[in-house]
Amino acid sequence: MYAPAGVKTSAEFPIPDSMKAWVLGNPGELTLTDKPVPVPKRAEVLVRIDAAAICATDLEVIYQGPPGMIQGGLPFNKNFTPGHEYMGTVAALGPGVDEYKIGQRVAVEIHAGCGQCKRCREGMYTSCHNYGLNYGDVDKGHRANGFTTDGAFCEYQVNDINTLVAISDDMSDEEGALVVTAGTAMYALTELGGLVAGESVVVSGAGPIGLMVVAVAKALGAQPVILTEMRGNRLKIALELGADAVVDISKEPDVVAAVKKLNGGKGVDYVVECSAASKAVNDAVHMVNRGGKVCLAAFTHDQASVDIAHIVSNNIYLYGIRGEGKSAVHRAEAFMRQKRFDATKIHTHTFPLADLPTAIRYAKDRVDDAIKVVVKAKLDAVHKVAAE
Ligand SMILES: [Zn+2]
Ligand SMILES: [Zn+2]
Repeated sequence: MYAPAGVKTSAEFPIPDSMKAWVLGNPGELTLTDKPVPVPKRAEVLVRIDAAAICATDLEVIYQGPPGMIQGGLPFNKNFTPGHEYMGTVAALGPGVDEYKIGQRVAVEIHAGCGQCKRCREGMYTSCHNYGLNYGDVDKGHRANGFTTDGAFCEYQVNDINTLVAISDDMSDEEGALVVTAGTAMYALTELGGLVAGESVVVSGAGPIGLMVVAVAKALGAQPVILTEMRGNRLKIALELGADAVVDISKEPDVVAAVKKLNGGKGVDYVVECSAASKAVNDAVHMVNRGGKVCLAAFTHDQASVDIAHIVSNNIYLYGIRGEGKSAVHRAEAFMRQKRFDATKIHTHTFPLADLPTAIRYAKDRVDDAIKVVVKAKLDAVHKVAAE
C-alpha cells in the first residue's frame, strides 16, 4: 500500500501504489499504461482525480507539442501524461501541509510558478520566467500539470497547495472541472483587462472559453455582452449564459458593422478573441473603440494580417492571455458558488477515463455538438461493477 515517508494518508482513503495513466507517444498517439502513484513533496498534496475536462489546448499539446514542454523540449515519447483541467479529492498530504484535509474536494489551477522570478513575484505565475525548468539540475520548482509536468488523464496527481481551490459541496464533479475554465475567463477580463461594471464586451467564437467569457463578463456587470459565432446551437447557449446579443456570422457579411450597430456605432471597450480564425484578430481591432482592448485567447495557426496603423492611431491595446494567474480561479469559483451563472451548460459529454481517445475525438471533431467533454476514472469503476 502507498505509504511514502513524511506523507500523511488516511485509512478512509486507501491509495494504491500504481495507477492507470495515459501517456503521449508520437503526436496524436496516446497509450493507457500503469504508473506509480506520485508522491507529494513539501507544500504539495496528492489529488485523486475525479473529473478531467478536455481543453482545446490539450489538443495543441497532444497533436502539435507546444505549449507542452517536457525536459526542455517537445512532450513526445517522454512518458508524459497530458490533461490540465480537472478537479478531485485530496487523498494525501505532503510534509507540513495543514491547509487542506484528506477528503476535501478541490478544483485546481494549472500553474504553480517558481515563486522566485519577476512575474511570479507579481502574481503572474502563468507567465513564470522559469516555465518548464523543472527537471534534473535545472529544477526551479515550476509546475504546470499537463504542460511541463504530468497532468490529469490518470487517477492521481500531485498539486502545489497554491494551485488548489476548495469547491462547494453542491458542485458536481463536472462543474468542478470547469472552475479553471471560468478562471481563465476571469483572468482575461479583470486581472489582465481591468474590466469594470458597465463596460462593453464582444466575445468572438463560442468554444468553452468564449462561452465562459460571456458568463463571467455578465456576472461582472459588463453591458452589453455580444457574442459572434457561426454555429446556431452555440448562439443559443450564449444567450442562456447571459449574452445581451449574438451575431450569427454565417448570415452577417460585415461582423464589424453589425457589432458597432449593436453598441451605438462606436465599437466596444473589449474584444476577447476565442475563435482562432486568422481574420478575427483584424476584425477585433476594428470592433473596439478608441483606447479599447483586445485579448487574444485562441491559438491561431495561420499568420494573421492586422492593420497596425489602426491600432497605433487609435491607442488600442492588444494582449495575449496564458492561463489563470493572480488567483483568478478563486474568484471564478466564488461566482459559481453563488450560482451567478451555470457553467454546466457548456458540459455536453462524459466518458470513462479508459475511453479517452473517444472523448478526444468528440471534443476535436465536435461529434454530437460536443462542447466540453469530461473523462472520469470513477465511471470506469461503475462500469466494472455493472459488468461483474
Ligand atoms: Zn485549458
Ligand atoms: Zn516564476
